Amino acid sequence: MKPAKFDYHCPATVDEAIAALGRYQGEARVLAGGQSLVPMMNFRLATPAAIIDLNRIPGLDKIELTDGTLRIGAMARQRRLEFAPAVAEKLPLLGEALGWVGHLPTRTRGTIGGSIAHADPAAEIPMVLQALSGEVVVRGTQGERRIAAPDLFVAPLTTALEPDEILTEVRFPVIPPGAGYAIEEFARRKGDFAIAAIAVMLVREGERCATAHLATAGIGPVSVRLSEAENILEQRGLGEDAVAAAAQRAAELVEPMADHNASADFRRHLTGVLTRRAVLKARDRQNVRTG
Ligand code: FAD
Repeated sequence: MKPAKFDYHCPATVDEAIAALGRYQGEARVLAGGQSLVPMMNFRLATPAAIIDLNRIPGLDKIELTDGTLRIGAMARQRRLEFAPAVAEKLPLLGEALGWVGHLPTRTRGTIGGSIAHADPAAEIPMVLQALSGEVVVRGTQGERRIAAPDLFVAPLTTALEPDEILTEVRFPVIPPGAGYAIEEFARRKGDFAIAAIAVMLVREGERCATAHLATAGIGPVSVRLSEAENILEQRGLGEDAVAAAAQRAAELVEPMADHNASADFRRHLTGVLTRRAVLKARDRQNVRTG
């Protein structure tokens, strides 16, 4: 297959890219790593009138630590982030997630902004953005704004970005020193999209669970936080009974999809199993990290 006819623009600045997007009134698409957009165009699932290529714009791939926030440029390649010292030290949950994202060739071209803007329900990077209460910075003809993760993912393959907006930066609060973290995923093969996945970040204070963040991927139409399950851990701690209760609540909370990969019941069952495994792994990992 090959894509339908389209105009191609290769701007040198974000302002030029925004101006080009604005001229097409929502009929243009931004090109980042091309690992989702190009296959969609080849299968005619996307037939944009124009492509606005971000690959020649300098400065859109920085990795900066500012006041407890790791700020990552939208065009940072997934593969580079996989080995970035700042990610390993300050965002190990993102580092762990990247190992689940596609394959080495797709990560070499694929970008963090593209994965978030594409908003595949099974994508791991949006799940980490939810789990860590991250946000994105977008710019369009109306100026710049920030969108927090819960407000960003609207529906499968749909975000709150306006047609003339470009995602320029992804911001994650750094993971507290000594925090526990884990991702548990069920997929047909390593590198396939998640059929179900759970990301966990925990902060313990003695026997108490001071902070619990749980987020999903592949289960419902968008990645969500499992707040009521988090509350169980923060109120009852991280003993086996509390973890089992949180896992059961997580399975009750989700609104699982049904498709050729799995029934809704199976995804609900997976939610409980993966939540329990991920929380225990994060808890035991924290024991080791805090000694
Ligand atoms: P592109 O494909 O260039 O763009 C994707 C969409 O986002 C387009 O609509 C584009 O217009 C929009 N967009 C991109 N950048 C911006 C921006 N800065 N501002 C506004 N809009 C933007 N992903 C996973 O999470 N998990 C997987 O297991 C997984 N497996 C894969 C397996 C294969 C074989 C392939 C080919 C892909 C897989 N992917 C997976 C997807 C991959 O991670 C892509 O990198 C990602 O989905 C899109 O990133 P990209 O930079 O290639 O974006």
